[in-house]
Formats: sequence, C-alpha cells, structure tokens
Amino acid sequence: MRYISTRGNAPALDFENVTLAGLAADGGLYVPERWPSFTAAEIADLAGLSYVETAVRVMAPFVGDALTQDELRALCTEAYGRFDHAAVTPLVQLDGRNWLLELFHGPTLAFKDVALQLLGLLFERFLAGRDTHLTVVGATSGDTGSAAIDALAGRAKVDIFMLHPAGRVSDVQRRQMTTVLAPNVHNIAIDGSFDDAQALVKAMFADRGFAGRFALSAVNSINWARLMAQVVYYFYAAVRLGAPERPVAFSVPTGNFGDVFAGYVAQRMGLPVARLIVATNVNDILHRALSAGDYSVGTVTPTAAPSMDIQVSSNFERLLFDLHGRDGAALAATMTGFEASRSLAIAPAMREEAAGLFTSARIDPDAMALAMRSASQTACMLIDPHTAIGLAAARAAELPDVIPIVTLATAHPAKFRDAVERATGQRPVLPARIGGLFEREERFASLPADLAAIENYVAARAVPAERVAIPA
Ligand SMILES: *Cc1c(COP(=O)(O)O)cnc(C)c1O
Repeated sequence: MRYISTRGNAPALDFENVTLAGLAADGGLYVPERWPSFTAAEIADLAGLSYVETAVRVMAPFVGDALTQDELRALCTEAYGRFDHAAVTPLVQLDGRNWLLELFHGPTLAFKDVALQLLGLLFERFLAGRDTHLTVVGATSGDTGSAAIDALAGRAKVDIFMLHPAGRVSDVQRRQMTTVLAPNVHNIAIDGSFDDAQALVKAMFADRGFAGRFALSAVNSINWARLMAQVVYYFYAAVRLGAPERPVAFSVPTGNFGDVFAGYVAQRMGLPVARLIVATNVNDILHRALSAGDYSVGTVTPTAAPSMDIQVSSNFERLLFDLHGRDGAALAATMTGFEASRSLAIAPAMREEAAGLFTSARIDPDAMALAMRSASQTACMLIDPHTAIGLAAARAAELPDVIPIVTLATAHPAKFRDAVERATGQRPVLPARIGGLFEREERFASLPADLAAIENYVAARAVPAERVAIPA
C-alpha cells in the first residue's frame, strides 16, 4: 500500500515511511492511495476472532509487505497484552439498544493507548534497521502525553519531549507522565496554556534547521498508523453485534476528528456502518461544519471534557480530501484559504454527501452531567465526561429502533474523577494497575513559554540524527 498527501504535492510513501513521517512535506496529511475493501464473506469470517486476530486481518492491507503477518501478529500480541481485559476493548450493553465500547483498558486509561501502544512498537521495529535516532515532540492537554510516554518509555533510538500546560492537567494525568523516569522521557511544564504549548511545538517543527538536526517526529493523530489501529475496534464491535448482516451506528466523542475518521475508514472498507454520530462539547466547530457548513475557528472554552476542547480538527482535512473527489490541488487551495481566514464554507453538495453517513450533536455541560448521572442511576455505571458526551448524542440521534448504537467510551472515569464525582456524587476508584501513582517520585522541568528556552532544553538532551530518510 502507498500513501499520498491530501494536498497532492508530496512524495508518496510506503507504510514504514508513513509511520515515521508525521505531516507531509506539502503541509497535507497522508492517506492510503485507495481504500482497501472487504467482502461481506470476509467480514463474516471475523466472527469469533480474538482482538489480536481481528487487528491482524483489518490492518494487513494497510501494512502491505512492510511486515509479515506473523510479525504483525507478534507486535499486536505484545501491544494488546498490556491491556487489563481479555477482550481488549469489551462491549458492554447499557439498555435495549445502546452499547458502550470500552476503549480505556490500556496502561494510561484512555483510548489513545489502543493506537499508541502499537505505534511505540512500530517505531522501535522500523528504527532498528536504520542508522538514525528520532526525537518525538508533542504538546498535550493530558491523554496523548501519558499514552505516548507509556508507549515510548525505554525504547531504543527515540527520545520523547512532552509539553504540558503547568497546573492545567489533572493530577492523575500529570502523574501518569511525570512519574515515568526512563531516561528517554522528558516532561516539560510550560508556564502557559495548552494553546501556548501547541504553538511552541509547531514553531519547533517550522524551525527547519532545528527539526532536521534532531529528526523531529510527531505522535499526534495526524500520524496515519494511529488511525489505522483505531479502525480495528469498529470492525470488532460491529461484528459482535451482527455485521455484516446487521448495520450498526457509532457515537464518537470527538476533538481532532481522528477516532471518528477511523470509523469512516471502516465504512469505506465495507463495514455496514449505519451512522457516525460526531459528538462535540461546546467547542463545536465540527457540529457547525457538518450541520451548517460553517467550519470557522472560534475561541476554545475549557470544559470538563478537556480532550475535546479543540477548535481546529486536523483530521477533518482527510474527510475533506474525499469530499473534494481526492483532488489534492483543489483541497490545497481550500486549505490555504482556511489557514489565512480561519474560516471555510463547506459547499452544499459536499455537506449533503457527508450527511449520508455523518450526523452531529453539540452537548452542553448540563446534558453531559445528566448523561453521567443517568448512567450511574439506571445502569449503575460510572462514565467519564467524554463518554457522557457521546452517550448524550447517541440518545438524541434519530435512527430506526432496530439499529444498535455503540458509544465509544474513550476514557476511564477515574481519569476524570473530580468531574464524575461532581455529577454523580460518587468518586471513581483508580484501577489497581495504576495504583501507587500518588506515591511515586515525579520528574519534570518547568520552563517559560519561550521557543529559545525550549529549543535549548531539547538540544541539550536530544541525540542529533540524520533526518529519517524519506525516498523521493
Ligand atoms: C483524544 C480524546 C478524544 C478525542 O479524540 P479525537 O481522535 O481527537 O477526536 C475523546 N475522548 C478522550 C478521552 C480523548 O483522550
């Protein structure tokens, strides 16, 4: 399989290079040059397979000959062996038609582990054969940072520098990052907001000399391999609920449009997905885009679901690419206009095409709290604020009764226990596997939100490297 840029002006890459690459050189995102497709018989064959076997079958067309099936299976076995549930992503029935797909059984209690545990192993595997060293830099509002650090801690040929806004991530989130003392892990608390941290990371990438000298790499959801790993659980859940005969809908708490884009990929591959419900909080750019064609950037309002407090959803560009008939030049012009004006009007024909699969909902803080309360009262389940937004959107969706709706449960309630306690009166218990978090030693640097200070810090600790060789 080869991967092409959504902006049509960067070299096509194979799976190994796309995994290490991040953003394309023309500013676009990589997508497979065509969507692989599964027949109904091939989907029916997934029935009863373990998560790992499902993962091997679903990911094989994307991986191509970069790994043998046995190698891919070994990596999946190792990655998903670290989850604390034998089903990896268990499906839990909530009522007659609503289900939760629990994606939080990994080491850091959020769905990002599903992709990042595998990505860490893919990095190690692909770097082993190269004379190079990667420096991963990222900014986090909490979940990506802890999942990426857990996945990369102690791995050869890679250092990770993770910036978080000082005092603005939860205690659990901070400690999940700062108590990892592996020498290749570098936590930096920035005196500023998440947006400041994000802007510093972008500035480091834009400093071409610096980026080249240290082979900077990204692990946020612009990375194709992350999305690929997330396609798997859509197949796994739908097959358990009767696919390919029975269509299934999914409600997805959305920020960067990564997780829900993976659902779109599953549908393009032939999975009978009846509907993808894009659930946002009050930071509703995606809801405005899908319901009214208005993709314009507002200011971010902090909420109890911080991983969805996003205004520009990077992966939306991947959907726009298909809606533009995969015309990279046309999309490049659209995106250049968007980057200048911070606003994009989606043409009615494109909006109609998207509406064939996607609907959206904007869930305000009261409806979110109500969803947490009602899950606790009617089903004796504690759910986290992000999951609550998905569930509220699922309940509001207008769909035929025969279609089951799976809400993606993206975080463990204990990761956001203050918000859960405020809504339900009950304080979620931290799972045993992360017990001791509050006794462990923390290590992190505190730096001003200043590019020179951050670059000096990184330069003093990172290993200079050849830029990862990307074939022309
Ligand atoms: C990252 C995250 C989301 C949003 O996922 P996207 O792929 O960015 O849309 C939702 N919930 C939780 C708990 C997250 O960590």
